[in-house]
Amino acid sequence: MMKLIACSLLATSLVASMCAAETVDPFMGDWQGRVTLGDGPPQDVAVHLIPRGGGNYEARVVRAFNERSPVLHRLQGRVADGQLRLLDAIPFDPAHVLRAVEDGVVVQAAYWTSAVQNGAVEGTVAGRLQGTFVWRQSTRVSPTLGKEPPAGAVVLFDGSNLEAWKKVGDDGARAGWKLLADGSMEVKGGDIVTRRVFGDQQLHLEFKLPYMPYASGQGRANSGVYLQGRYEVQVLDSYGLEGEDNECGGVYQVAKPLVNMCAPPLQWQTYDITFRAARFEDGHKVANARLTVIHNGVVIQDDIELPKATGGAIDPNEAVPGGLKLQDHGNPVQFRNIWLLER
Ligand code: MG
Repeated sequence: MMKLIACSLLATSLVASMCAAETVDPFMGDWQGRVTLGDGPPQDVAVHLIPRGGGNYEARVVRAFNERSPVLHRLQGRVADGQLRLLDAIPFDPAHVLRAVEDGVVVQAAYWTSAVQNGAVEGTVAGRLQGTFVWRQSTRVSPTLGKEPPAGAVVLFDGSNLEAWKKVGDDGARAGWKLLADGSMEVKGGDIVTRRVFGDQQLHLEFKLPYMPYASGQGRANSGVYLQGRYEVQVLDSYGLEGEDNECGGVYQVAKPLVNMCAPPLQWQTYDITFRAARFEDGHKVANARLTVIHNGVVIQDDIELPKATGGAIDPNEAVPGGLKLQDHGNPVQFRNIWLLER
């Protein structure tokens, strides 16, 4: 495949780690190309191929990446025998019923059939819709991946040890997360929090979601980044989904991401977060905490207000500084290259 060739030629650790996904599931992820239906003009599209396990996928065809746009086609896919076959999964709609038969109804559907070659698919649409499509695999890489801590930064994790961290709720106990040979750490044995506490800050952090194609919802690669140990920016495999407040980059019950920038599992991604702590005068809050999140290079939370601590806060008292918490939600999410600038 094209991308496999590119991966072996560009043998940097960054590209190598991106390409880990290829060996596990060479089809999941971003595709781009054109769809031509009926007499209409060719339309440029972006496609999220979301793995559902066992060679099954959900394809969400949208107008473009990196923006919140309606889904043009939502297809059920299956890869077998070098072909990607997709079925237009229209919800039951009487307008599409052809005729009733004894054991049900015959519904018009569209069948997208294509051959897979060199990281591209080229095929035809038949049935309810008629047309052709050509898609090529692509990978969006965060522009801040591997960003070095600037002068004056507090390095919280550089891959060498977990000394800056302790286990939550077990004062002083060392963090038991797994240190991996590639310079990352993996969730294990409970939430962890930095020993140091912080107020206003600019945080850089990288994370990688595990491949859990059969899992769904909040059980699919869940973790979380808690500013001051009390405001969670969600970490979740919500690749290709709508972008809700409980999905990746969302702040639960406070704000959806402006756009869902979640990368597919097994690809390193970044949060660059600017945080301003709540302000208090004479024991009364005079300003809410505020947050800007740049996810994989795109602003997804733009200076939003955080009215109160979110669920799972170590200490909901917003008047005191707090450490950076990373959540153990039972899934082997990995983190690396974590540092912040105090402001
Ligand atoms: Mg979470």
